Amino acid sequence: MDLETLRAQCLNCTRCELCQTRTNVVFGQGASDAEVLFVGEGPGQSEDEQGLPFVGRSGQLLDKYLFAIDLDRNRNCYIANIVKCRPPKNRDPMPAESEACMPWLREQFRILRPKIVVCLGRIAAQRMIDKNFSVTRSHGQFIQKGGIYFMATYHPAALLRQPQNKPEAFGDFAALREKILEVCTHTY
Ligand code: SF4
Repeated sequence: MDLETLRAQCLNCTRCELCQTRTNVVFGQGASDAEVLFVGEGPGQSEDEQGLPFVGRSGQLLDKYLFAIDLDRNRNCYIANIVKCRPPKNRDPMPAESEACMPWLREQFRILRPKIVVCLGRIAAQRMIDKNFSVTRSHGQFIQKGGIYFMATYHPAALLRQPQNKPEAFGDFAALREKILEVCTHTY
């Protein structure tokens, strides 16, 4: 199966109750041969309205960080979320909702076979790396699991709230660039 076939299936998903309040399913966006996969927690209001991940103010900030290390969501990376439908009032996804939605992300992994996964924020990091993961403590560190390098950095929305962490986030993206140069074959 390819990503577009999977997307078509996902757009009709009713596996959890978030389907009742969503405007659009936010399946993901990016290059079909991406080696670098970014994973956030779930869509916010702008994302729900447009059906695309990270398109509000935090998305603009993310795009700036991507640009700084020669990444472009339309060219050489992919962006997805743990849950594909917006939790009402931007609350954290419930464990049951994350559990119901994970098969879609697992299929995205299976198709893309990323070499590097960057978790954006605590919710994604605790789901993908370690349930006790602390972004403040362990951001920017690469952990190898099942042949994939995982790293977590601050969620761009958190950086908008706490801009004093931006230099650390920039350091994480610089480290990401080094890791891409080390393990990826066609990202650059
Ligand atoms: S959040 Fe995921 S599991 Fe729930 S309805 Fe949306 S696509 Fe389906």
